[in-house]
Amino acid sequence: MSVTPKKSTLTLEPLDEIHKPAFEYRETSFWEARDKDWAARNKMNGSSMNLDESTGGKVGYYPFVHTSYLIIPPDKYFKDHPEYYALVDGKRRSENAQLCLTNPDVLRLAIETVLEWIEQHPEAGIYSVSQNDCEGWCECDNCRRVEQEEGGAHSGPILRFVNAVAAEVAKQHPEKLIDTLAYWYSEAPPLHVRPLPNVRIRLCPIGACEAHAYTNCKDDTYFLGHLRAWSKITKQLYIWHYVTNFAHYLLPFPDFDELAADIPMYRESGVVGIFLEGDYAGGGGGENAELRSYVMARLLWNPRVDVDKIIDEFMAAYYGQAARPMRAYFDVLHRQVRPAPRGKGHHMWIYTNPGAPYLSDDLLAPALKLFHEAESAAADDATRTRVRKARLSIDYVRLMHAKAFEVRDGSYAPANLDRLKERFQSFMNDVRSFGITELHEGAPLTLDEEIFAKLIRPYRVATLENMYVRVDVVPELGGRIIRMIDRRSGHDVLHRPDPGEPAYPDVGGLDVAVYSDYLAPRPYHATWELEPQAGPPELRLIGSFANGLKANRVLRLGKDARYLQTETILENGGTSAVDAVLQSRCVAGLRDMKTSTLSIRRQDRSIVFQKLIEAGQEPKGSQVYEGSELPEGEWRVSDVGPALTLNNRFPKGQVSRCTARWTGKTENSLSLGIWSTKHTLAPGETLKLETDYGITARIS
Ligand SMILES: [Zn+2]
Ligand SMILES: [Zn+2]
Repeated sequence: MSVTPKKSTLTLEPLDEIHKPAFEYRETSFWEARDKDWAARNKMNGSSMNLDESTGGKVGYYPFVHTSYLIIPPDKYFKDHPEYYALVDGKRRSENAQLCLTNPDVLRLAIETVLEWIEQHPEAGIYSVSQNDCEGWCECDNCRRVEQEEGGAHSGPILRFVNAVAAEVAKQHPEKLIDTLAYWYSEAPPLHVRPLPNVRIRLCPIGACEAHAYTNCKDDTYFLGHLRAWSKITKQLYIWHYVTNFAHYLLPFPDFDELAADIPMYRESGVVGIFLEGDYAGGGGGENAELRSYVMARLLWNPRVDVDKIIDEFMAAYYGQAARPMRAYFDVLHRQVRPAPRGKGHHMWIYTNPGAPYLSDDLLAPALKLFHEAESAAADDATRTRVRKARLSIDYVRLMHAKAFEVRDGSYAPANLDRLKERFQSFMNDVRSFGITELHEGAPLTLDEEIFAKLIRPYRVATLENMYVRVDVVPELGGRIIRMIDRRSGHDVLHRPDPGEPAYPDVGGLDVAVYSDYLAPRPYHATWELEPQAGPPELRLIGSFANGLKANRVLRLGKDARYLQTETILENGGTSAVDAVLQSRCVAGLRDMKTSTLSIRRQDRSIVFQKLIEAGQEPKGSQVYEGSELPEGEWRVSDVGPALTLNNRFPKGQVSRCTARWTGKTENSLSLGIWSTKHTLAPGETLKLETDYGITARIS
């Protein structure tokens, strides 16, 4: 929509003004911002905008990002040239991995490919030579040596490679630019190599808290360090900044204070281009997409604008008489994250789930009231429809909260399943009526409906208990233990997964899975059944796999035992050999990341403590323990409940690595992985993994 103020007389003074945008590249990926007229009027010039020569052109990318496998397609090369691909954990890999960037043939092919791209897409000005959207960097001797020379930075081999491509391109096409990412594992800059003048680095604060100005949030200090270091070594730094929740496009995302502070901060740091990644699904409908696009366009042109005034201006034009309650909702939402004393100071990340503290009832109750007021105040149907569309955010959060499963009378189900089904269907109808096609990045609405129909139903619960522990098992959910309760305190030491997680309730807890390899992206799919004959003190579960594997799992809780014993025997019941490794995984809930510890009994019998939180770093981490670092059959997590410790023991000979992964981003959880030795199981062969879990009270 456009709003044109009416004036009976228009007086024009002589005009002699020159405006220079703060950033040479200005883009957001919100679907709403692609419209040609909108983009031109709002002075955006990015690749996804439908701009052409008639509107002054744009900064055209080709391809946009994550291009490693476009450059060296695994289908074409992996079979004959596995050495082109990353060596990860002792194996060349073409899935969930990168390229070997020190292989001279890979460089030669990359140069050829980029020169072809330039010929085929001469309209583009910038060509992306960038890492895939995963980890899996190359660990071959050459790549490691380059990393070491570059101060241990993974960006070292990447930038040397990209520079080498850019140098060749410059000989034939001096006006063309080459783009790459400083992203995820490559965010920290290299020690020596410097981007060539025709190289653009897009630095991505993927792990930053988006609720607060980066200079004002302790969780973002690490990123400011990267930003300063990159801006010291290049005068052409671009930023890839995130302005939506990619796991939940509709989730309220109060980041306007952050944007108003950080876009000027980028400018002062010497940044010359910004991409603001939002909900790019066809049909749009991301949280606040219209307001956001309007405000962001102004900030990218001139970071010194008064954002508050722009918000008011937009609301008045867009919501008319409903603007007052809509602005009040916007303010209530932002107060959830504003630092005290102006607000409650909650943090927020781009994959935060709907169970986040800033989305609790102290937001939902006033929000519902204000949306009701706004609908009543709306002067016409068009305005009322806009208010209703904005309200989807609150409807979504409430729906996700209502999905929470509970154990009741031997059943695991949401509190009011029939009502929930009706609400879900009516919500999906609303979503469709606004033309929305995705609620989560890359997932069509039909997938939400399929998963809901398949997973949201009652499940039978089997229970083991003694005077110390109660364990609730849902055989149909992967044979998963969903609760492990300390009987004395009544506290469940397992992390309660968020109902907004895509596969909920088939997530978290304590379970066993079979993989082809330690780094396989997914386990083999299995269906689990409870063996009806067995009863307390043990439960027996049978897992069947499509590839012929069969698992027998026993969970045993003796009368006076403080430990739940688990034993899984995997057998190859098929006719051909299968690569297999068993993983027992337990996701513990932590009370407080700052006080919880992961302690490991080392092989020399000493105890070491894994640090979970480091000042100024992202509040999350992971660690692999193997070889001489493998725990001596025991490790434990403290503070999984009031003065409670979770102990995990295993016979050393069966285990070849342990993995820990933890996060304090909105939820506090720590996942312990016990991995068996890896085998190629011939038909009839078996593989066993035993591991025990117990709760002890801290003696104080
Ligand atoms: Zn390599
Ligand atoms: Zn923060």
